[in-house]
Amino acid sequence: MTRCAGLFVVERDARGTWHPEIRLSIPLLRRRDWPWPQVVCGLNCHDPESIQQRILEHELIHYKLWKDGVKDWGHTEAFRVTAWERFGHQSVTHGIGVEEG
Ligand SMILES: [Zn+2]
Repeated sequence: MTRCAGLFVVERDARGTWHPEIRLSIPLLRRRDWPWPQVVCGLNCHDPESIQQRILEHELIHYKLWKDGVKDWGHTEAFRVTAWERFGHQSVTHGIGVEEG
């Protein structure tokens, strides 16, 4: 079962200005009663602080790609490469636990 802990969204206001936003599920990120370690972004996390960091790193890559003007800032090959090179992420997920695809 996968729980979505982070999300990157871009919304346009009434004036047509785009606003990027990283949303985190704080209750999920604060949970301490997981069976440890939890796998996040393909890495073993042993406490909520490292889970939060992995999720934040992941969402920051979405932001970076968007900021760079890349048309598709989703889970593309460019995303995968950046996640690996910058943060050592071994998989591309938003969730805590099992792969969401
Ligand atoms: Zn993502």
